[in-house]
Amino acid sequence: MTDVCPSGCGCPESPRGRAVVSRTGSRTAPDADALDPGLLQDVALGGVRLTAEQALDLYWRAPLLTLGRYADLRCRTIHGDRIRTYVIDRNINYTNVCNAKCTFCAFRRDGDEHDAYTLEYNQILEKISELVAIGGTQILMQGGMNPALPLEWYEGLLRAIKSAYPHVHVHGFSPPEFIEFVHFFNPPGETLEDKLRFVMKRLKDAGLDSLPGGGGEIFAGPVRRKIGLGKCDAEAWLTTMWVAHSLGMFTSATMMFGHIEGAADRVHHMMLVREWQDRALAQPAAPGAPFGHYKAFISWPFQRENTPLGRLKEWGSVPEELGQPFPGDVVANLRGDGGPSAHKEFGRRLRMSGATDYLRTQALSRLVLDNVYSIGASWVTMGPHIGQVALHFGASDMGSVMMEENVVSSAGTTYCLNEAVLCRLIRTAGFIPAQRDNAYDLLRLHDSPGSPDLRVEDWSRHRAKRLHQQAGRDAKAPSAAVELTTGATN
Ligand code: SF4
Repeated sequence: MTDVCPSGCGCPESPRGRAVVSRTGSRTAPDADALDPGLLQDVALGGVRLTAEQALDLYWRAPLLTLGRYADLRCRTIHGDRIRTYVIDRNINYTNVCNAKCTFCAFRRDGDEHDAYTLEYNQILEKISELVAIGGTQILMQGGMNPALPLEWYEGLLRAIKSAYPHVHVHGFSPPEFIEFVHFFNPPGETLEDKLRFVMKRLKDAGLDSLPGGGGEIFAGPVRRKIGLGKCDAEAWLTTMWVAHSLGMFTSATMMFGHIEGAADRVHHMMLVREWQDRALAQPAAPGAPFGHYKAFISWPFQRENTPLGRLKEWGSVPEELGQPFPGDVVANLRGDGGPSAHKEFGRRLRMSGATDYLRTQALSRLVLDNVYSIGASWVTMGPHIGQVALHFGASDMGSVMMEENVVSSAGTTYCLNEAVLCRLIRTAGFIPAQRDNAYDLLRLHDSPGSPDLRVEDWSRHRAKRLHQQAGRDAKAPSAAVELTTGATN
């Protein structure tokens, strides 16, 4: 570590306090007040990164619009002022059979339940053909952790997809699924990393292109152990992504907040993503075998309907709790290892997030994650108009025009839009909409009269619709013409 002036002039002191250069070359100003406009300007322009303490202080003390303004500046510094993106993909949940019991999940089934399902190859291929018909470029394929499916089932599926649709990008299998693959298939290897690499390489060779960030939830152990019963811990989650990166694949990171966690847990989660991203980006690119990394970070608030976790009482629902600190905040710390015994109601009370907390958290993520390219607006649960606002709070991407969504919609409400509405939302937020691919390269820039939204004459037929969807209904593929949903893609 060396002390330097953050302004770059070389003087030992600066109005923003001592600056520190880490081994990765990034600079921090740990003595600066988190609300110092000079610090925030430097962070927004990419010259200085926030410390965990400053990030937490910002979460608690910064006015929402201040956070939004600097997150927006950070976003514009990276992405410019003109274009905001979306992708056309299809969310395919190949099975709802799962041996985990996450308390926030309304999607999972035991294998012997009447509405348990595993899709046949031909059902999955039919869904992809409908996606291709509307100009889609990728599938987001995730499922429950189904012990009945052998490794060969996944290899056969990927080969069938790539043989029929070689240009469709397969963004599939989140870290908890891979960790269960290791348990189910018992692959060779001394370490978890070796075993993961064995399985992942087999699936990559069969056609897997990249990994989604599902199952991130909250990394802090005390929270994770309460809500993700049977799901891998943070170390395993991050190691899975590390292995994917070592194989040259891109991934994304996610966070589901607004339940039992404290604000420090959210910051700890973001800092872990930043730290592992630093490591990935520091790897030398071997000729022909570049190292992968996280392309995007997407966070969203917990949806409570039909979930065991959602049955908990909200904090403050009895008079003696009013004005008292939320148990999650009493337990949480920036190391992610708070003692659950610090508050007897920890894990028994919820603090749900509304629109402002969602925007605050997303804006903070844009400022903290200076090494992640895209922040996704995850408005599938918040509504399209919050999604528009999110584009001014650090998000550069509106997620996906999706043809179906089963997991979040099992736990509440999602919104149903088509590509024209999505483009219109981006345009009326002040940007030119552009369709992107999984690598965030632009495919179609909608700056001409032929753009999907500019061709619409009667908007009364293109309003957003709320969509409630039952898990398991999925096996009957919905018609692409009547069921286009738009939401976050992770
Ligand atoms: S969230 Fe995923 S891993 Fe957890 S129970 Fe539901 S399907 Fe299984």
